[in-house]
Amino acid sequence: MARTAVSRRLTWRAATVLEARWETTTARTLVLDVPDWPGHLPGQHVDIRLTAEDGYQAQRSYSIASAWTGEAGTVQGGTVEGGTVEGGTVEGGTVEGGTVEGGTVEAGTREAATVGGGAVEITVQRLEDGEVSPYLADVVEAGDRIEVRGPIGGWFVWRDTATAPVTLIAGGSGVVPLMAMIRARGAARGRQPFRLIYSVRTPQDALYADELRRRVRDDPGLDVHFVYTRTAPEGWPVPPRRIDVATVNDHGWPPDFQPDCFVCGPAGFVETVADILVALGHDPKLIRTERFG
Ligand SMILES: Cc1cc2nc3c(=O)[nH]c(=O)nc-3n(C[C@H](O)[C@H](O)[C@H](O)COP(=O)(O)OP(=O)(O)OC[C@H]3O[C@@H](n4cnc5c(N)ncnc54)[C@H](O)[C@@H]3O)c2cc1C
Repeated sequence: MARTAVSRRLTWRAATVLEARWETTTARTLVLDVPDWPGHLPGQHVDIRLTAEDGYQAQRSYSIASAWTGEAGTVQGGTVEGGTVEGGTVEGGTVEGGTVEGGTVEAGTREAATVGGGAVEITVQRLEDGEVSPYLADVVEAGDRIEVRGPIGGWFVWRDTATAPVTLIAGGSGVVPLMAMIRARGAARGRQPFRLIYSVRTPQDALYADELRRRVRDDPGLDVHFVYTRTAPEGWPVPPRRIDVATVNDHGWPPDFQPDCFVCGPAGFVETVADILVALGHDPKLIRTERFG
């Protein structure tokens, strides 16, 4: 890889927070405008660096949640209903059930819409006793500046030119890079069949729940199966439990289909799921993992 490309990725850039929105009561998405952003692949992450007034610095990694679709355009004062704007900004407009890929919605109403692409989005799950995540989740506001470098990572990525079926398995905020893959496939109008198995403690902890519901409704090539570990919704057919062999066997693609498998979450979760995939006969070369801690 060219040295200039590497050094560009390792350069800290002062990003502006365009928007901060709650995904759950404990997780927020920050939409960042990063100057000279070179674009990214779904699955890559950024490093975020915060500097206190006394010069103390802390840095952490966050997966990119948005799909990159190129340069942003502008739709002014417009309404998008059930449609798709690629690379756009909707100003003073309304988006209902539509998708804006690569842009921002300003002063408008957004219901069940997605913004991705032109801006870099991260979703931060607050850890009560953490150092950085409570600040990003609770304190940062639109207009603030934070330092960003990236995109980082070349292995845990999905390319929309790939043709194999895909099994995504997420634990908690590990869904973030997998959501970027789902969004990228949507933006590229990909036909690769995707299955997501998403483990959360309770229904209230699920990130992107409305968007996932909408995408599944509109896209026969996408299937999402939730696993609840502490509290299941009323009427859920099984009691709360952890992902096991049967779950992966029933809701992931079988090994014969040679699916690309992406697993992301806490280290223990990732190890358990990777072992299950191997035990079921998946080729270890097709299993990609990302550990959050
Ligand atoms: C590639 C990658 C991508 C990631 N993507 C995301 C993402 O998309 N979203 C997301 O929310 N997170 C993501 N993470 C995790 C993120 O980088 C942070 O680790 C997370 O936000 C916690 O940071 P923190 O500063 O709040 O917590 P920290 O202060 O780092 O603490 C983390 C945990 O360790 C414990 N701890 C801290 N210090 C000690 C100690 N001395 N002894 C014992 N225990 C200690 C704390 O109690 C806490 O539970 C990602 C991590 C990686 C590596």
